[in-house]
Amino acid sequence: MERIKFGSETKMTILADNCPGCNAYRGQLHQYACVVESCPQCGSRLLRCTCKALSMAESLKITKAVADGITDRSEIRRTSDTGSEHLDASYYEEGVMLWIIRDVTARDQAAAAKMNELLADTGFKHVGKGYAISAEDAARHMGVPVEEARAILEEMQADAVYPGWQDQEGTAKA
Ligand SMILES: [Zn+2]
Ligand SMILES: [Zn+2]
Repeated sequence: MERIKFGSETKMTILADNCPGCNAYRGQLHQYACVVESCPQCGSRLLRCTCKALSMAESLKITKAVADGITDRSEIRRTSDTGSEHLDASYYEEGVMLWIIRDVTARDQAAAAKMNELLADTGFKHVGKGYAISAEDAARHMGVPVEEARAILEEMQADAVYPGWQDQEGTAKA
């Protein structure tokens, strides 16, 4: 589903000219991971609801922005204590999970090696600071035609998710 722009909320009315969360003006999309953005499906706060109604590419950008924005470790602990079992019920939880994976793999080489093993099973390769997957592998894992997987990957990898991935050796952009 399409993201809700600032000023088009259905469950709340905000009178300000600019978003109090990200400063977007009326009619503009919020910054990724803005707490004010609403879900196009249920109208509640997008980061905390469980609809996860956006495209895969938009979801990944929001998840990454959530992880990038977390500075308070107590928030990580609180979410892992009170969140869903796999920390995947909302975009916020997914962002916390991504933060945890980054934190653990940065500090623990064995964990990083294990993560690479797990990623290999999904077709992803660790490339530079990010992860890449060939369109063929992605198509197999997502159960979609290669052309469709390639379009999704191009959208995902173009900017926010795997910055600079095209420049890295070993990426399998088909
Ligand atoms: Zn906003
Ligand atoms: Zn929702």
